[in-house]
Amino acid sequence: MWRRVAQKFSSSYAVSSKRSYQYGRIFSRLASSEASSVGGRSSYTIVDHTYDAVVVGAGGAGLRAAIGLSENGFNTACITKLFPTRSHTVAAQGGMNAALGNMTEDDWRWHMYDTVKGSDWLGDQDAIQYMCREAPKAVIELENYGLPFSRTEDGRIYQRAFGGQSLDFGKGGQAYRSACAADRTGHALLHTLYGQAMRHNTQFFVEYFALDLIMDGDGACRGVLALNMEDGTIHRFRAHSTILATGGYGRAYFSATSAHTCTGDGNGMVARAGLPLQDLEFIQFHPTGIYGAGCLITEGSRGEGGILRNGEGERFMERYAPTAKDLASRDIVCRSMTMEIREGRGVGPLKDHLYLQLNHLPPEVFKERLPGISETAAIFAGVDVTKDPIPILPTVHYNMGGIPTNHLGEVLHIKGDNPDSVVPGLMAAGEAACASVHGANRLGANSLLDIVVFGRACANRVVDLYKPGQTQKPLPNNAGEKTITWLDKLRNANGSLPTSKIRLNMQRVMQNNAAVFRTRETLEEGCRLINETWKSFEDVNIKDRSLIWNSDLIETIELENLLINACITLHSAEARKESRGAHYREDFPKREDGQWMKHSLGYWENGKVRMAYRPVHMNTLDDEVETFPPKARVY
Ligand SMILES: Cc1cc2nc3c(=O)[nH]c(=O)nc-3n(C[C@H](O)[C@H](O)[C@H](O)COP(=O)(O)OP(=O)(O)OC[C@H]3O[C@@H](n4cnc5c(N)ncnc54)[C@H](O)[C@@H]3O)c2cc1C
Repeated sequence: MWRRVAQKFSSSYAVSSKRSYQYGRIFSRLASSEASSVGGRSSYTIVDHTYDAVVVGAGGAGLRAAIGLSENGFNTACITKLFPTRSHTVAAQGGMNAALGNMTEDDWRWHMYDTVKGSDWLGDQDAIQYMCREAPKAVIELENYGLPFSRTEDGRIYQRAFGGQSLDFGKGGQAYRSACAADRTGHALLHTLYGQAMRHNTQFFVEYFALDLIMDGDGACRGVLALNMEDGTIHRFRAHSTILATGGYGRAYFSATSAHTCTGDGNGMVARAGLPLQDLEFIQFHPTGIYGAGCLITEGSRGEGGILRNGEGERFMERYAPTAKDLASRDIVCRSMTMEIREGRGVGPLKDHLYLQLNHLPPEVFKERLPGISETAAIFAGVDVTKDPIPILPTVHYNMGGIPTNHLGEVLHIKGDNPDSVVPGLMAAGEAACASVHGANRLGANSLLDIVVFGRACANRVVDLYKPGQTQKPLPNNAGEKTITWLDKLRNANGSLPTSKIRLNMQRVMQNNAAVFRTRETLEEGCRLINETWKSFEDVNIKDRSLIWNSDLIETIELENLLINACITLHSAEARKESRGAHYREDFPKREDGQWMKHSLGYWENGKVRMAYRPVHMNTLDDEVETFPPKARVY
């Protein structure tokens, strides 16, 4: 059905990143011209590449990993389905936490305490220590790369208040820890990192869609198979290190702040390779998505003094979180908002949403610190923020769960009785990964930090383990064959259900059955409905059979990846009989550390989910800080 027409795109082809992108194109064009139809209705052109390392994803995590590898002389390919600066990182608004101490005295240990508490004691404390200790260095490094941070009067990096951030281990009041570039921090970050990656000659493969991992008989990852969306050629990337940085899967839900491209492809690839996904039941809802549109209004707006109000004009958060009020952690604010609406104190004709009031803030705050959200509110809610409140509703925002890794970025699975066994050759970083620094609930402005710190950690680990140009074993003979058969089957799918219909069914199930509040009934029903939706995928219909810019096919592959994530999310949620962080069960309202202080691992086996568990790391890396034992979480 398919044959190989080109051999080895060897590391000696290392050229400037721009040229390499062209090489990739010329090479594939040459290869296609040699291709002929082999067997059956389809023929695929295969192009082989060899790199020291391959990074999948060019968001903040992927770019930071690629920079670290390229600057150390590793010939690095970065494969991305989007042009790098279109990755979802570009949409991040509020900022990035680091105990720089520019506004008040600060300490990375206080940041660590807040993160452990925010995670509701599901985060791995060694990884959290690593992230918070590295944070100030990460921000300074970005500043040196050229990121235009907002400044204080005396020229230092400005830092704003964000939810769940405190001083002195929760005893010293609100911390000002989030470094930002007005309310367009992600934009500034992504463009800065892309510039650096170009500078260090990372070889970009833009608008290449990664399909599957290439695994060998020993369970090691040997590279990745990708589809060039422009011309339909298949590319086999061989590398001793594969780093997945493919972002989250917010689009499994009907209403999400994430881009339509956040479809959990890396998670799908890992699950199809027989490896587990961790803690997927923990889905973060953001308190302030614009009602109806779902677009985000940054938590930074409350950090600058914004207030949530109910239909009676009351600042209701004072009742739920007397100390932190509107800046309690996101899971708590979202639950409080949902309670207000349920009890009839919503706003609007249906009393089904709430207000974010900003009009009491001084005009210069809008101009200097919140220009982007003023524009967003005008376009998507028709509101002039200097006069009227913004209608808002909790909206799906972030995936705490993902591909399990240690603090070095290495992917973990259970092997024998070792729950922390490393998968050779495979790493993950960013929202696709679960390090796990966010545990059951991520604190705002900790993800931009996570992507930069762990992207860099992956690169450092590869530098420790390998040398540039190190010889690699040949790929298994049948590498990628199964994936191409799968791709061909999907491309020719001739069922009765369009992709969009199945996707909508999935999004409705997730929205209704894996929401802010959960019960046995909603979760059991959710498992049944999502299993049925998965089953219906067998009957999917694709109209476009071509290989040139076949968006029908790409959306269908993305849907399969989303469905795998959705199934594991619901089954993990149904299995976890406690409440912790973002996973709140009305039938089990308490956190149960005795039985449930453990990570869920969901395996995808023949279209079904199998659950397993691994312990939370309660240890720290060294004696610079002590572990934080579990206690009640009050804000
Ligand atoms: C609106 C919004 C605002 C936010 N604001 C903040 C904030 O202020 N502070 C904060 O800390 N966090 C914030 N977050 C969260 C944070 O921005 C994200 O978690 C983070 O940017 C994710 O980065 P990433 O590198 O992991 O993935 P992404 O930036 O999502 O990038 C994913 C990359 O993977 C590539 N990719 C995916 N699938 C494939 C495939 N099959 N083949 C090839 N390439 C693929 C894409 O092309 C893309 O380059 C925000 C999130 C949203 C949605």
